[in-house]
Amino acid sequence: MEGKYFVKEHTLPIVKHEHVIFEFEDGLDLRYADVRKFGRMCLVEKKKIEEYEPIHKQGIEPIDDNLSGEYIYEHFKNKKIPIKSLLLDQTIIAGLGNIYADEVAYQAGVNPLKLGENISLVECKRIKDAAKDIIERAIEYGGTTIRSYTSSLGVTGSYQNYLKVHTKEGEKCLNCGTIIKKERVGGRSTYYCPKCQK
Ligand SMILES: [Zn+2]
Repeated sequence: MEGKYFVKEHTLPIVKHEHVIFEFEDGLDLRYADVRKFGRMCLVEKKKIEEYEPIHKQGIEPIDDNLSGEYIYEHFKNKKIPIKSLLLDQTIIAGLGNIYADEVAYQAGVNPLKLGENISLVECKRIKDAAKDIIERAIEYGGTTIRSYTSSLGVTGSYQNYLKVHTKEGEKCLNCGTIIKKERVGGRSTYYCPKCQK
């Protein structure tokens, strides 16, 4: 959550929370800053990278053509776990964080509180389409900047201006006018429209 990389001149002083520094021959550093120390870094032999546990276990990314509705259905259908938590499970779909998981469920018209075992294949196909669409657009807009996130150059993204449900508690659903609700699912704030997302 919110670990950041910065590219800086090597001569610049190391500031608080810059925990790992990669020095390059051209005089630049790649510095990893992590205020909350949630990040992990491992030194692994290059040829062993694919077998290495977190990488080996990583699921399919939304922009990967191998992500299909059938794949999502196979991984969701037997789980007594809320769909919101399954969307955040990086071993199934890799790369959806809390903000995008809410946006994906909203665009797909799927209730994030519903258990995986109650999902249909049609809903999984809609989740696949929504995930692709939202991640592609978010990349195009440079990401989502809420609270403390800044990209490596201190540039902020603008996808937060296009969010439809996340952080919209109490506002009207853009689609049906129903008030957006907020609940905690698996410890994470979850926003959804109770009417559009059954
Ligand atoms: Zn709605």
